[in-house]
Amino acid sequence: MNLVILGLPGAGKGTHAQRLKEELQMCHLSSGEVLKRAIQQETEAGNKARTYVTSGDLVPDRIVINLMADEISKYNEPPLLFDGFPRTLRQAHRLDEIMKKHDKFIDLSIYLEVKKDNLLKRISGRRICSREGTVYHIDFNPPQEDGICDRCGAPLLQREDDKQEIVKKRIEESEKRISKIVKYYQEKNILKKINGTDRSPDQVHGDVQKAVHSYLEQLKH
Ligand SMILES: [Zn+2]
Repeated sequence: MNLVILGLPGAGKGTHAQRLKEELQMCHLSSGEVLKRAIQQETEAGNKARTYVTSGDLVPDRIVINLMADEISKYNEPPLLFDGFPRTLRQAHRLDEIMKKHDKFIDLSIYLEVKKDNLLKRISGRRICSREGTVYHIDFNPPQEDGICDRCGAPLLQREDDKQEIVKKRIEESEKRISKIVKYYQEKNILKKINGTDRSPDQVHGDVQKAVHSYLEQLKH
């Protein structure tokens, strides 16, 4: 069973992908991680991607698709779990083509649907320790002393791309792209929408597990 997990920035894709990976022994393919690794290793694709990543722009489809195609060809056995990919309709089409070449296909696409206001609050409330990177949240996980890291006492800062205006723009742009991918998987009848607004990660994950298990049950019959 190969899965795609979709969601706007801050919807919790990484959190649920990590848990599914452990629960189902899946191979977790996160485009963010794949890009980061290619940049660190200064591969040809990594060097091309770096300028886009540093300026916060979307990395062109061609670069992302080639990187993910390489990843897919590395794994024969384990079920694949795609996180943060596809990010555009073109990537979704290409993913199907690449999978077909390996006699595979996407079984299920899980869409973590979270209201924009909720996401804005989640992301713009994030604070990070300026010395060692511990993550806090002014509402959901505040430090004991305002603006100070509990662990090392260093001041907390807000990442540039977590600022309200930037987050709003990121969410709106991403929403336009994701709505096309959601429609694409809906038309293929493999989309499961999960309500992620104002619910705890455990509540949301319970529904994610239900969606996966009902698909696996369906396969048995
Ligand atoms: Zn710290």
